[in-house]
Amino acid sequence: MIFITGGAGFIGSHTCLELLNAGFSVTVFDNFCNSQPEALVRVQQITHKELTVVRGDIRDRFSLEAALRKSGARAVIHFAGLKAVGESVQLPLSYYDNNVTGTLCLLQSMQSCQIKTLVFSSSATVYGNPQYLPLNEDHPLASTNPYGQTKLVIENMLRDLQRSDATWRIGILRYFNPVGAHASGLIGEDPQGIPNNLLPYVAQVAVGKREFLNIWGNDYDTPDGTGVRDYIHVVDLALGHLAAVNKLENQGQCFTVNLGTGIGYSVLDVVRAFEQASGKPITRQYSPRRAGDVASCYADPRHAQELLGWQAQRDLATMCQDAWRWQGKNPNGYSGH
Ligand code: NAD
Ligand code: UDP
Repeated sequence: MIFITGGAGFIGSHTCLELLNAGFSVTVFDNFCNSQPEALVRVQQITHKELTVVRGDIRDRFSLEAALRKSGARAVIHFAGLKAVGESVQLPLSYYDNNVTGTLCLLQSMQSCQIKTLVFSSSATVYGNPQYLPLNEDHPLASTNPYGQTKLVIENMLRDLQRSDATWRIGILRYFNPVGAHASGLIGEDPQGIPNNLLPYVAQVAVGKREFLNIWGNDYDTPDGTGVRDYIHVVDLALGHLAAVNKLENQGQCFTVNLGTGIGYSVLDVVRAFEQASGKPITRQYSPRRAGDVASCYADPRHAQELLGWQAQRDLATMCQDAWRWQGKNPNGYSGH
């Protein structure tokens, strides 16, 4: 049994699906502040398997610990948290509360239940402004906004915990840019309001929900002047969590790994790939750089490959085709069902 906080969200729902397919039992603990129960209904529909859903907030220590104990879980995957960089600048206390206080509550609950195996969702944002590329796990850590700061605080908390008690088994996964959707088109990313991220925005332009894409900057020191990122298919990312859980359970070793493809694509590369996948033109205009953006960011994925035997398999065309299938079938996300 695996206990999954934030399991109804974008990455969580895809991970639940892969865990069920691999024969794990799953309990999801989610307050649905940025997701809908329908995502988990669909996960069960696709897999023909059942999971347990508990509605609750990870900051509510009493409910969390009760659910954790009842689940009989042997490991936790911790996705729950807030993730919008811009919003974190406006609402830093909400971010520290949800992400840091929430994680603290989770760790205390786990300790009290004697469950000491944890996979944590960190982010490439902990590398700050890249000093060299590709980014390996030894790159210095820095943060440029409150969201990134919460990930750094949590990583430090986990490292301290590990040092204090060697029976903890902790896997820190630093995601690059998760995109795409399950190939069924039944689950995918369902951003509320105007999407901040490139792929969902492009998909909404293709489906006619938004008029045009603003490309934030075409004067970066990159091959075509637009920003370069390491986009990774969410199903590959989900499979990385399975590899991480297996590693922790079988070998009990703590680790920190990048989950990326190692390939950087520009905004224009993505736009062209999406046009190809959807057969729709993506109207776009160039706008000034977005505050806080870096020119290029991509992973050195070798450590994950060597340690976990995991490697991303799905290419940019597949990411766009799958995102398009999800968008086409669910133009209003889960609310339209
Ligand atoms: P998401 O918002 O789709 O999923 C997060 C889930 O956590 C949602 O279902 C939300 O309802 C739940 N949640 C939030 N606060 C909660 C709380 N206090 N109690 C209980 N549930 C709560 O986000 P995602 O894209 O699936 O990201 C999952 C994790 O991965 C997050 O920790 C995020 O910071 C991290 N991450 C995401 C990205 C990305 O680009 N998507 C990149 C790097 C890291
Ligand atoms: N981007 C863009 N227009 C948008 C959203 C994003 O040009 O509407 C660019 C952004 O400047 C960056 C890349 O697309 O170069 C990826 O942005 P995203 O927000 O998806 O990821 P992050 O910047 O957090 O890595």
